[in-house]
Amino acid sequence: MKLIDGTTIAEKVHEETRASVAEITKSGLCPGLAVVLVGNDPASRTYVRKKAEQCAKLGFHSLRLELPETTSQQELLAHVAQLNADPKIHGILVQSPPPPHIDEAKIVHAIAPEKDVDGFHPVNVAKLALEDPSGFVPCTPLGCRRLLLEYGIPTSGARVVVLGRSMIVGKPLALLLMSKGPGGDAIVTVAHSRTRNLGEITREADIIFSAIGRPYFLREEHVREGAVVVDVGINRVEDPSHKRGYRLVGDVDFETVAPKCSLITPVPGGVGPMTIAMLLSNTLKACRQIHGLPG
Ligand code: NAP
Repeated sequence: MKLIDGTTIAEKVHEETRASVAEITKSGLCPGLAVVLVGNDPASRTYVRKKAEQCAKLGFHSLRLELPETTSQQELLAHVAQLNADPKIHGILVQSPPPPHIDEAKIVHAIAPEKDVDGFHPVNVAKLALEDPSGFVPCTPLGCRRLLLEYGIPTSGARVVVLGRSMIVGKPLALLLMSKGPGGDAIVTVAHSRTRNLGEITREADIIFSAIGRPYFLREEHVREGAVVVDVGINRVEDPSHKRGYRLVGDVDFETVAPKCSLITPVPGGVGPMTIAMLLSNTLKACRQIHGLPG
């Protein structure tokens, strides 16, 4: 068994982004990312802070808009409209989940598709399905594909099972894997909470992605010898021995599954670091596209 080191690959992606930013700043351009946070959710606050820190490290312009919990839908839409019109901003994301009185879909629809670096706008969802490379693909699936490519894991004709069918991970990941070209051309099965006899399906897989959100869900009996397992899940489990009182684990029962795998991602340090790396890479892409630069 070998570990897939997401931290190292994410650093490689950051280096590529940094080099590209250095190049375009010579022509007076600077990619800009705006992150909007509504409310005081501590986990969301941490994610937003980490994104801003990474922006600073790579030479991005970044804007953090922290709005009170009481912000109305109309007010939030007005902020999004302002960011759509801001020439210094090339990528916009509204941190999920917003407070319950906000209709998240309406907010996503209001973001200009060319600045939708999360890849959630219907225009970008359609572009992914149409295999139009000008679109933005959600960051976590994009990071998963990059890991496969970096480790030379063959996908063409491979049997791949994706656990989970969310619009953030499972569905776009399945579309990427079945698209034509490197990191694609796979035979994809998508499983979800209504799937019967899951083990029969996963035991046939060369590669399994788990994006369910249940700790220790994928066990030894679900995996065939030599399979590749990519664990997207991030779950909190109580751990009084830890200073926070909890620790983060994936969907995979790592101890029993890892010995059967040829390659497996750890949690943390697998898919997680790739998500932010692909977010900044998407923002750079948006900047280049908006300014008519190739690549
Ligand atoms: P989600 O929207 O809750 O979707 C979970 C999916 O899992 C649903 O499609 C659900 O099926 C399916 N599911 C639930 N129980 C199942 C079961 N017993 N058997 C088979 N399928 C089952 O979650 P998400 O946003 O996709 O996130 C999934 C996990 O990935 C979470 O742990 C999240 O924290 C993590 N995540 C990590 C990153 C990262 O950067 N690494 C990024 C995003 C998310 P139904 O559709 O039938 O309900």
